[in-house]
Amino acid sequence: MSLRVVAAIAAGKLAGTASRAFGRGGGTALPGVVAEKVEPRLVERLAAQLGHGSIIVTGTNGKTTTAHMLSSVAAKAGYPPLHNRSGSNLMRGVATALLDSAGLLGRLSQAERRLGVFEVDEATLPEAVRAIKPRVLIFTNLFRDQLDRYGEVDSIAARWRSTLEAAPESRIAVLNADDPSVAALRESARGPVIFYGVDDRSAALAGPEHAADSRWCAGCGSEYVYDTLFYGHVGHWRCPGCEKSRPQPDVSATSIRLEPGGDTTLSVATPQGKTALSLRLSGLYNAYNALAALAGGLALGFDVETVRAGIEAVDAAFGRQERFEIDGRRVQVFLGKNPAGLNQVLRTIAAVPGEKRLLLLLNDDIADGRDVSWIWDADFELLADGAASTIVSGHRAEDMALRLKYAGFPSDLPVVRGTDEALALALRETPPGEQLFVLPTYTAMLEVRGLLAKRGGAAPYWEAPS
Ligand SMILES: [Zn+2]
Repeated sequence: MSLRVVAAIAAGKLAGTASRAFGRGGGTALPGVVAEKVEPRLVERLAAQLGHGSIIVTGTNGKTTTAHMLSSVAAKAGYPPLHNRSGSNLMRGVATALLDSAGLLGRLSQAERRLGVFEVDEATLPEAVRAIKPRVLIFTNLFRDQLDRYGEVDSIAARWRSTLEAAPESRIAVLNADDPSVAALRESARGPVIFYGVDDRSAALAGPEHAADSRWCAGCGSEYVYDTLFYGHVGHWRCPGCEKSRPQPDVSATSIRLEPGGDTTLSVATPQGKTALSLRLSGLYNAYNALAALAGGLALGFDVETVRAGIEAVDAAFGRQERFEIDGRRVQVFLGKNPAGLNQVLRTIAAVPGEKRLLLLLNDDIADGRDVSWIWDADFELLADGAASTIVSGHRAEDMALRLKYAGFPSDLPVVRGTDEALALALRETPPGEQLFVLPTYTAMLEVRGLLAKRGGAAPYWEAPS
């Protein structure tokens, strides 16, 4: 190992120790930033040691949950996963994860037995792929994220295409057949392609939704036509202008049952035969995450039984959808960070029978996106009639209250300044035995989760079992 790698690891580890000692939190980025300053090729050098190679998951929504599922699959298969956790999906987060597993002389622990599972930010993908050289690359979906982060989805799609065009022929691409902008990547893929998708048309959307961005054919510019629309622009699509249409998925959900209590069951057809999945997660979007993980696991060469067992062992990934029990009240947290993801959450909650109690927290920190106008593209209308109690908080609570007023909620919703006060009020408004739904943006989620944990719900995330 080069002296430079050794120096980079020492510097990174020291930065992590110092950061923790000064109470600067979990240190998911700083060690990587410091180490990469010393050796810019650190990720490449360390990732090359992974005996079973790596798999990368990217896309606007679902990468954390899908990567979490794949990490569990790797563990079930007896390969200790090396996984960047907690949504630190830029290069520095990947570098930190590798650094944590490296000894001072630059060797990864159990290197020859390990599989890398990396969730990577959409825009970071080309750089990450060049350094990590994954065996398998999973693309979940492509939606407009926070407006001010990347600009056009087209530029992301172009980066993804050139990444695939530059890949070796052995690299397997796992693509969502139901998202036309992802399915179109097959034309850029030089290696094998595995499609996953939903064939159960009963999971389709009843009414129209707002969020839809890549609705025009990349080939001829015509607007796609949908025989079945599941959410956003995800469904059974075809182009009326040219012959392009949704490919038949290799891994296909033939039946999806969304249980109102929160579980989801799927029947799935795979190249290795039929299987059934029982998820402790709710929402059609989590069915898609499970299909992506299943297709990815098969692409890595695992047998379908191991993959199923690994996926089923996953509980709600960190903060994305979590359940707490507080003074006899069930509290469920759903992260909402963009219109497409939030619409899935709103649909899932709307499907729960009975009156709803809601706490909505809208922040505009950098990690949330400074521009909050995206809330106007989310279908809060779905919950307007069923809401028995609604509390609004966060730095931009007034914007949320205004949005909800136009969605048909009462115009005098309580706007509560502090998160702790808002949570306390929301819990008081929720009778024992009933359920409270908490919908935070990213930074609000970190805060509300800490408060819920303190009130006796669960261990803080850094103690959560992997
Ligand atoms: Zn076309």
